[in-house]
Amino acid sequence: MTIIERAQDAVPHLYALSAAHGWHQQLTSKGMTEWEKRAVSRLSRRLDGLFADAGSEAVRRLLDTGRYGDVQSQRKILKALEQRTGALQRSLFAQAQESAQHGRNRIISELQKAGMSVQFDSFSPRISEMLREHVFEGAGSTMRRLRGDVMGTLQQAYEEGLGIDEAAEYVKGQFDTLRDFEAKRIARTEINARQGEGAHLTEIELGVNWHKWVAADDQRTRDTHREQHNMIVRVDTPFPITGMKYPGDFDNALDEGEAINCRCRVIPFLPPPGKRFPPGQDGPFYEEDLIDRS
Ligand SMILES: [Zn+2]
Repeated sequence: MTIIERAQDAVPHLYALSAAHGWHQQLTSKGMTEWEKRAVSRLSRRLDGLFADAGSEAVRRLLDTGRYGDVQSQRKILKALEQRTGALQRSLFAQAQESAQHGRNRIISELQKAGMSVQFDSFSPRISEMLREHVFEGAGSTMRRLRGDVMGTLQQAYEEGLGIDEAAEYVKGQFDTLRDFEAKRIARTEINARQGEGAHLTEIELGVNWHKWVAADDQRTRDTHREQHNMIVRVDTPFPITGMKYPGDFDNALDEGEAINCRCRVIPFLPPPGKRFPPGQDGPFYEEDLIDRS
């Protein structure tokens, strides 16, 4: 018997965790909590610094090399990014740990609100290690994507027959875009995804069986995420519309774009006393699908 089932047995009047109440926390104008806002600005500042350094080094390497049309010189230039993979991984992991813990605390606090005796604690070393590997892999593929982008810019400059100084301007412009746009986007996406991952791992660990998707409620929320609002599925199975098992789940999203910037949440769902899910079906369900326990 899982912790949750034991608690359900022990607390007969336990009421639906998520019925009608979303995740109550003061949200800022951008639909983020104060903590998220600070975390995003801290991480995007760090990434901005990293891209700024990489950019000026890439330009220096370009000017030093004196050519950029062949693969060999392009590799030399791109080393500016490649050599920062470790720094990117470390920055993301430092933030990922805090974000995942935040996701964990949110689940535990939801369960406590429902009267269960679960205590706040941290992830086991095994799960922290899993998270680290996941973050490192993700950082690696982000770096490959960025290198591909810069490579494309060099190629384009070459095809346009630009001289070295103009090409350097081009590359500088590309890094400015990275700083303006990618730093924030990566920071927001990472922080939300790791909170989702932390929440998900915690639900699995505590034996939560069902959870409900709560869409971020503003005009930037995607229609597909809105359609999933209030949908209940078994923990560790995909929400069918997006394919994600939790908000920000890159591994399972039917389209990777679904996971970017996702600010939705899941909350554990327990049927209210006297109610149960229709037997023999596996969901997804909505609350109105619950039937009387006979
Ligand atoms: Zn979303």
